[in-house]
Amino acid sequence: MAQKLVVGNWKLNGELAANEALLGAIGAVAGVEVAVCVPFPYLAQAAARLRGVAPGAQTVSEFQSGAYTGEVSAEMLADLGCRYVIVGHSERRALFGEDDATVGRKTAAALRAGLAPIVCVGESLAEREAGRALEVVERQLGAVLAIIGARMLARLAVAYEPVWAIGAGRAAGVEEIRRMHAGIRRWLGERDAAAASVRVLYGGSVKADNATALFAAPGVDGGLIGGASLVADDFMSICRAAAVANGA
Ligand code: PEP
Repeated sequence: MAQKLVVGNWKLNGELAANEALLGAIGAVAGVEVAVCVPFPYLAQAAARLRGVAPGAQTVSEFQSGAYTGEVSAEMLADLGCRYVIVGHSERRALFGEDDATVGRKTAAALRAGLAPIVCVGESLAEREAGRALEVVERQLGAVLAIIGARMLARLAVAYEPVWAIGAGRAAGVEEIRRMHAGIRRWLGERDAAAASVRVLYGGSVKADNATALFAAPGVDGGLIGGASLVADDFMSICRAAAVANGA
């Protein structure tokens, strides 16, 4: 079984001096892969400061170079020592107009540069209540597949993040997560046998006090952690919970 992967997503937070303390307090945890996705301006700081923890970014341009003012390419991220990049976070989809096809092109750009994309998928509350959660997630994954092709699916990590659980203070239920992760894994495996072993993370209000239960859920290969990744003790507790769930 692959090691669990725990990824912090700082979102639009950080400041050079405070980052020093936070980055310095985040360390490697045996048996778990840990990554921290910081805002672009702090990537070099994170790469220099982190030990045994991978630096990552929160989005990436679909373009490689040229007249695209304000964009940051996957190659630039790789140049800065980035290993992971989050693509298709629901905040990018909802607030910055990223549609399914854009997420697919960004995923392709990340792969082209040798980065490991963490593709976020997840339904809204209305979609869940309409019984369409899996259909929505499959549509989001399908758009990525259409652009990268089945053989590349195995190079992804997928983060299932129900939109209604992000920043809500209340995670999805273990049974809801188990079902969705099983559905995602089935979908991946049907497209490419190797993709059945892709890590499927859960994200949405993972905290120090619920991480153990969430990571023990069948098919949960780690977590994408927003708010709690800004508090070093909480983030490290979550990473240790993943190690326990891994049997490390
Ligand atoms: C996220 O930003 O991806 C996230 C899961 O946030 P939070 O942990 O704060 O719900």
